[in-house]
Amino acid sequence: MSRAVVALGANLGDTASTLAEAVAEIRALPLTRRVVCSDPIESVAITASGPDPSKPGYLNAVALVETQLAPTVLLRALNDIEARHGRVRLERWGDRTLDLDLIVYGGVTSDDPRLTLPHPRAHERGFVLVPWAQADPGAQLVGHGRVADLAARLLGEGR
Ligand code: ATP
Ligand code: CA
Ligand code: CA
Repeated sequence: MSRAVVALGANLGDTASTLAEAVAEIRALPLTRRVVCSDPIESVAITASGPDPSKPGYLNAVALVETQLAPTVLLRALNDIEARHGRVRLERWGDRTLDLDLIVYGGVTSDDPRLTLPHPRAHERGFVLVPWAQADPGAQLVGHGRVADLAARLLGEGR
């Protein structure tokens, strides 16, 4: 079993139901067990030009997953779940019904643009770090230290 961390985000539709359904669908994946999800948090939409409070706000959560699915197989399964919830990719960082990012997969590192591990922007995102630290207070992010410390620093900066 490998431990993976999945970030969930939604800013269109019934976001709370979508996140709850997505967690149930992750829990139902083959070769996967012990899916633990953080509480959901609200965050401001980030667009290509920065935070945009005029866009619908996001609901975010982080799920800790134990799985034997290989990283690329897990990402494909996550993409299938996004598609089932009507995800369409129109513009970078555009509004979406569901976004599922693979934040880390065990100690795997990868520069592949189709699956970069750890997720290259996770360390600077409060909406990932805060729920992750809640779900796993001892979590570490390779190259960046304790997730709880990163989260506390961002909150201190008001992000
Ligand atoms: P961001 O990656 O900044 O959070 P996004 O989630 O809006 O942006 P998407 O449109 O969902 O971006 O995905 C763009 C591409 O990112 C996908 O084609 C996917 O293959 C790739 N990708 C690379 N690394 C990862 C990862 N760790 N988790 C999810 N997708 C990834
Ligand atoms: Ca994302
Ligand atoms: Ca994504």
